[in-house]
Formats: sequence, structure tokens, C-alpha cells
Amino acid sequence: MSKDNIKCSFCGRDKQDTAVLIAGITGHICDKCIEQAQYIIREELSNKASQSAYSHLNLLKPAEIKKFLEEYVIGQDEAKKVLSVAVYNHYKRLSQKIAKKENDIDIEKSNIILVGETGTGKTLLARTIAKLLHVPFCIADATVLTEAGYVGEDVESILSRLLQAADYDVAAAERGIVFIDEVDKIARKSDNASITRDVSGEGVQQGLLKLLEGSVVNVPPQGGRKHPEQKMVPIDTRNILFVCGGAFDGIDKLIANRVQAQTIGYSTSNRNKDIDKDNLLQYISAQDLKKFGLIPELIGRLPVLSYLNPLDKETLIRILSEPKNALIKQYTKLFGMDDIELKIEHEVLELIVDKAIEYKLGARGLRSICEAILLDTMFDLPSQKEVKEITITLEYATEKLSKSKMSKLKAA
Ligand code: ADP
Repeated sequence: MSKDNIKCSFCGRDKQDTAVLIAGITGHICDKCIEQAQYIIREELSNKASQSAYSHLNLLKPAEIKKFLEEYVIGQDEAKKVLSVAVYNHYKRLSQKIAKKENDIDIEKSNIILVGETGTGKTLLARTIAKLLHVPFCIADATVLTEAGYVGEDVESILSRLLQAADYDVAAAERGIVFIDEVDKIARKSDNASITRDVSGEGVQQGLLKLLEGSVVNVPPQGGRKHPEQKMVPIDTRNILFVCGGAFDGIDKLIANRVQAQTIGYSTSNRNKDIDKDNLLQYISAQDLKKFGLIPELIGRLPVLSYLNPLDKETLIRILSEPKNALIKQYTKLFGMDDIELKIEHEVLELIVDKAIEYKLGARGLRSICEAILLDTMFDLPSQKEVKEITITLEYATEKLSKSKMSKLKAA
């Protein structure tokens, strides 16, 4: 480029049309673009400041957070309580940061780990919290993560997902919630024989540390693996709340061993009697996670630990009909949109739950069983204008289920 036709690299104005044109290493910028950039920066920063004030969140007390959770999640009282306090403290910590004085006590981040069988509501809890707080939320599966350099996803891809959930608004992503599912699958093998994963699980745990503790991480906005040409977006993870979940199959044995070993010292059989052997998860502690194969550094960055109870028949029936967006409420609404009143006999609910338990599908299976029962009705009724009401009886439901593909599951 000759000296005469130097242009602003941003707006394309010729040098003679600008008051000042500043040269950079590979381009130029004119006074007008600098002004505009300054305006954008000011606006971005003030948005960020007002967002980080979290003013509406300060109003929510733990009891109110729990009350909101009750609307969507059935049972799991202990986990709800622990989560409500953790989330409350998390946002307290953020508000303290804004008004921080010198020598103030540092409140540590309250990342959470939830242990419980699959389908008991771990993801649902985290998702519901995000809904309450109006913050971006994403789910990441720990099993697809690998150490940098191996086939699979880098740990940073978790944040790419959060960024996508935040519509590429970095400030919003920086106060979001990330749910990392199946953390038990990245446990290292040595401490636990029942885990069949290779040692690279430990590498992934190491990789997660820097996300969890809070640092600026360069994230490929489109996800996938990092490559040199891709533009990276720096994301500060200090205010991101991480919730990890896992089934930790077999951890009950580790808990039992520990609890028994502790009680032996007292040599009174009374203490042993106090232990509820049917639900050992309630005694879970960080020691058990370590024994299972999580590295101590990772456990240290997940200071809030809680458990979820297995879902019994009664809870499953409540899940079908009680939550704000319960399945039965959804179907009632769908039929209602065609001016049809849907009635379902209570025995049908029991049947649905029995089948979910029988097929070992837990709460996750309820939907497909409902679909199997209601498919024909949902297909036929909208064309039959005269029908204003339909009652699903046990007999009808049993017949539909036995004809559906679902019944094949039994054999599987
Ligand atoms: P997890 O993360 O523990 O494997 P999820 O939270 O994904 O399980 O649960 C799967 C589905 O089952 C949820 O979307 C929800 O519909 C239902 N569900 C599970 N547990 C509960 C619960 N305690 N209350 C209400 N619904 C639940």
C-alpha cells in the first residue's frame, strides 16, 4: 500500500477524510472509530457492572430458593436444602466482591457435587436453579472429555457450550451455571477396582481444576478442539457455579466400610443400629469420593456435597402429577387445546410407575410409557369433533402398553 492511500482498517475512510489516523502493526484506526470503540467499551462495562450487581438475587433467601425448587422437584429435601444455601452463599460472595473492602474475608466459591442414582433429579435441580436465577445453563458430559491431545473434547468445550447457551454474551456466561454429568466416570482406576476407565480420567480431573477454581480460560466459541486459526474468547470462571453429578455406582460399599470402621472404635452395637443401611448415601463424605477415585484437589474445589435418594413408587407417582410441568399436566393441556378434557384413573398412574420400575427406567421412563398409552388417543381424537372428554382406564392403558414397542423392553 502506498503512503497516499492509507485507510482506516475499521471504517475504510481515506487518510485525508480523518482528523487522526493511528497506525498499528498490521492496520490503522481513525479518530471516529476510536470514539465509537470507546463508546462500545463504556456501554459493555456498565452492562457488566449492572449485571454483576445481581440486585434481584439478593432478595432471595435460601427458604425462597427451596420453595421454588419444590415446584419442580419432588422429594430430595436434603439436596434442595444444601443447594439453596450453596446458591445463596454463591451470590452473597458475588455481591461481596463488588463492595469488597481491603482485608475483607474471602468467601470461597461453593461449587457443588451431587451423588445419586441416574434419573433422580440431579440435572433437574441444577436446571431449576438456573431458571430461577435467569442465568445461562449448560450440561456437559464428563465422559466425552479427554486430556488435551487425545481424541475427544477438551475441558474448555464445556465453556463453549455455556457461551452458546448465553447467546455469545460473555458477561452472561461468566455468571452462568454448568452441570457436569457423570463425574464418577472420570474417577481414577487405582483407588477403585470397579471402575473400568483408564488412568486418563485423572488427566481430565486435572483439566477440570482450572475451570472450577476460577481463572481466565481461552475458549473456542464454536466448541470442538482448539486449533491455531480459531479465535479464542477469554472467559473468567470465577463466578460460574459448577454443579457436578454422578451415580458413583458402588460407593455405598465404601461408605459402609468407613461407617462400620468408625463405629467399631466405640465397640457399642448401639451406634451401628442407628445406621440406616438401606440408604447409605446419606452418610457420604469427601473421604468416600477420594476412595472412589476423585483426586483430592478436585474434591477440594467441590466443597458442597449432597446426595439424592432413590425414587420409590410413591415419589414417582407424585412426579407424574405434582410438579409445575408434570407430565400429566402437560398431556391435560395438550388435550385441552383440542377442547378435550383428559381424565386418567389413578390405577393408570400406578401402572405407569410400576412399568417404569420394572423396565428400570426410573423417572426418565415415565414419558415414553405415557406416550405409548396415549399415542392412539392423541392420533384419533383431534379428528373426532364430537368427543369432549376422554377417560383413560386401567384396562385401556394395559392393552395399549402390551401392544406397544415398550413391552419389548421387558425382554431386553
Ligand atoms: P439425573 O440428572 O439425576 O440423572 P434428571 O434430573 O435428568 O436425572 O432426571 C430425569 C427426568 O426425570 C427429569 O427431567 C424429570 O422429568 C424427572 N425427575 C427425576 N427426578 C425427579 C424429581 N425428584 N422430581 C421431579 N421430577 C424428577
